[in-house]
Amino acid sequence: MDISIVIPLFNEEESLPELCSWITKVIDEHRFSYEIILVDDGSKDCSWEVIEKIRRENHHVKGIKFQRNYGKSAALNEGFKAASGDVVITMDADLQDSPDEIPELRRMIVEDGFDLVSGWKKKRYDNTFTKNIPSKFFNAVARRMTRVQLHDLNCGLKSYTKKVVKSIEVYGEMHRFIPVLAKLAGFRKIGEKIVEHRPRKYGTTKFGWERFINGFLDLTSILFVGKFGKRPMHFFGLWGTVAFFVGLLISLYLIIGKLVFTDFALTNRPAFYLALTLLILGSQLFLAGFLGELISRNAPERNSYLIEEKLGL
Ligand code: UDP
Ligand code: MG
Repeated sequence: MDISIVIPLFNEEESLPELCSWITKVIDEHRFSYEIILVDDGSKDCSWEVIEKIRRENHHVKGIKFQRNYGKSAALNEGFKAASGDVVITMDADLQDSPDEIPELRRMIVEDGFDLVSGWKKKRYDNTFTKNIPSKFFNAVARRMTRVQLHDLNCGLKSYTKKVVKSIEVYGEMHRFIPVLAKLAGFRKIGEKIVEHRPRKYGTTKFGWERFINGFLDLTSILFVGKFGKRPMHFFGLWGTVAFFVGLLISLYLIIGKLVFTDFALTNRPAFYLALTLLILGSQLFLAGFLGELISRNAPERNSYLIEEKLGL
């Protein structure tokens, strides 16, 4: 199969028929073999009935329905598990992403050899103050922190090789960082394509301004787990030791002061409280490191690697 198109959706009943017929039109022009995997993320409207109806007319359309709303990441993850095409393309269900981009996104994977190509909504039709400006800021920070040079990390329209989607796990709200997950998994050829963006025709947006706060928190987690996930003690142990020793040095100074000068007051010195805090903080960090090690040593994937090739085995 040439292409799997994975579409997460939550309450998008009005858009689905138009979206599927548009995709079908584009794909038929290029004669690709394909499947459209619609992942209904616990919609409360008639989205699933609409999907069943579309499936009756077009057997390339497949559907997965969640019992409740688990979020876009979960929907993408299930879609990725089910996908069997050589190239996997994701897009939003709300007609904001144009299916006309599909052939070029596929070509960049197949001919230019990219592992992942991310869309860039250069001209964007969303609310300027709640989305466009914060998104520019978010992307600039994310570029610096992750060194993944994309202008629009969270664009719903992306294409992947099959290997990438089978190698990564999208969980929590990590759908914003799929290129970073791919990079951490060792896929380095990450490309970008300017894509057409359209105003939302039906329904309403599912993400508000909180996305940016959650986005930054997730960004720090992903970088931390990427670097120290398998060796938490190297982080907590280092800072625990530093804090403990600084606390110890200050304590020594206080003890010597007390022994040498008889009128040396201890408890009204800021240094006393600083020393106390640092000693406690240091040992707590160290303990957190031990707990982290216990958890990561017992994790079933502690020794699972992505093997690129094997020879003679
Ligand atoms: N979506 C989803 N589960 C959710 C929230 C959103 O599957 O919990 C889908 C939604 O139906 C759409 C895509 O994710 O297909 C992007 O959502 P939306 O268009 O609301 O985001 P925006 O374009 O405003 O950033
Ligand atoms: Mg949208």
